[in-house]
Amino acid sequence: MPYSEEERAFIEWYPRGYGVGFKVTRRLFETQTKYQRLELYETEGFGKLLVLDGTVQLVEVGEESYHEVLVHPVMLAHPNPRRVLVIGGGDGGTLREVLKHKTVEKAIMVEIDEGVVEASYLYLDVAKDLLDRLIKGEEERAKLIIGDGVEYLKNTEERFDVIIVDSTDPVGPAKLLFSEEFYRTAYEKLNEKGLYITQAGSVYLFTNELLDAYKAMKKVFDKVYYFSFPVIGYASPWSFLVGVKGDIDFTRVDVSRAPEKLYYYDPERHETLFQMPKYVRELLEKE
Ligand code: SAM
Repeated sequence: MPYSEEERAFIEWYPRGYGVGFKVTRRLFETQTKYQRLELYETEGFGKLLVLDGTVQLVEVGEESYHEVLVHPVMLAHPNPRRVLVIGGGDGGTLREVLKHKTVEKAIMVEIDEGVVEASYLYLDVAKDLLDRLIKGEEERAKLIIGDGVEYLKNTEERFDVIIVDSTDPVGPAKLLFSEEFYRTAYEKLNEKGLYITQAGSVYLFTNELLDAYKAMKKVFDKVYYFSFPVIGYASPWSFLVGVKGDIDFTRVDVSRAPEKLYYYDPERHETLFQMPKYVRELLEKE
């Protein structure tokens, strides 16, 4: 059990005994949803902690270290991102960042597990007001759909400028979100100029998953970029993969459209995103 009462700590154990943990004061809530075991803890120094199937999803203090780099690089690299799809992201942090962009006319969030949305609304100070408006259908520029992102994308008539996959790791309901078939569907549902981004796991501990996803994406997208970032709560550096449709150059961003308050992603130093440990860069470039 990752949570030990006596040590009063929640530790997520990664492969090879690498652990990432938080001192916790108490467990606030736990349930078995239709898809996963959901736990919420009060940590000593990082606010509340959301855990799904034993894996850290986010802590309230520092969650922007993930949500900013998942959203703003692709939103600023795309010349005019108006229609955006978020798959997963049930805590609302990703959609919150997407809606900071005035170009966005319509954003759709497809989250498979209603329990994550409800628990995030009730317990987390990540995007409480936004989740409230989404649940009531009162958010003007965004809509929440409870469903499987794979099925949704296969069946939708919608087309998107940016697709953001903010899912759990490639196991269980998220597994197919990392498949070549899904990448082909995503490519088809992007507009002529489109960007696709997905979190791709711990650079050091999930290197093979990163390589597999990169290989599969290269078979589908016109260009694929990789980058990494230190994310609070994850076995960092954490990797991200960006697939391009059309001729967008992901190494360049429109800094003038950057949201005012950013704490982690620095659009003026966008090029620093592309840091990757040498051996991992060499493995990726061999693909
Ligand atoms: N945003 C958080 C963070 O800081 O990393 C964590 C990601 S969010 C909680 C991950 C979500 O992906 C979960 O709520 C999970 O239910 C959802 N998910 C997994 N597979 C999915 C699928 N096939 N379709 C839609 N949502 C999915």
